Amino acid sequence: MLREWFYPPKCCGCKTLIDRETYLCPRCKKQLVRVQEPICLCCGKTIREEGQRFCHDCRKVYHGFVNNRSLYLYNGAARKLMYELKYCHNRDVAEFFGKALAAEFGDYIRGVGIDAIVPIPLHRKRKRQRGYNQAELIANELSRVCGIPVYPNLLKRVRVTRAQKELNDAERKNNVKNAFQLCKNGVKLNQILLVDDIYTTGATLDAAVRPLLESGAQAVYGVTVCVGRGF
Ligand SMILES: [Zn+2]
Ligand SMILES: [Zn+2]
Repeated sequence: MLREWFYPPKCCGCKTLIDRETYLCPRCKKQLVRVQEPICLCCGKTIREEGQRFCHDCRKVYHGFVNNRSLYLYNGAARKLMYELKYCHNRDVAEFFGKALAAEFGDYIRGVGIDAIVPIPLHRKRKRQRGYNQAELIANELSRVCGIPVYPNLLKRVRVTRAQKELNDAERKNNVKNAFQLCKNGVKLNQILLVDDIYTTGATLDAAVRPLLESGAQAVYGVTVCVGRGF
């Protein structure tokens, strides 16, 4: 194909030439590490203490979402892909992540009866700077594969927040408190799935859950591509 002649498909991680549709070369793919069982029944992080159903964090903190599932550990390889997606305009990464989420969690998402997929929004200023919201691109692909509608404008971020990674636990909570509002009224959604790129303490998800529950949603779940250490 002419397109492949001019734009030969390259690995999203290391830029070596690859077959189309694979997104990553075998080496980069191997470096992505999946979250290992046993996982916390609430936030989806790996539990290190034996015999526990919830992680150390979730035994202390109440979360508004029913549960969250993450696919990859936020290691060097995952971080590199996130950087490509957020700062190098490489949208292929979002397609790859969306497809990977669908492959891993598609049955689960349909099983709990999700009727709406909602990406965590960026503030409009930040979205304008970047040109797109990376969580929205991932959610679009997940929606396409699972056949569940996506509502990118249901929530809006009404405060410009600092990057969560720069903050400690308490600061994170304050940083995103009241950061989200509902944009559209009159849409009746029951089981909502929030989609984000990285889960750390769950503060962002919790802040987004609140307006959804207040508007009458029955339950809110989350899926995130990566899980990072929040402490
Ligand atoms: Zn590669
Ligand atoms: Zn947990």
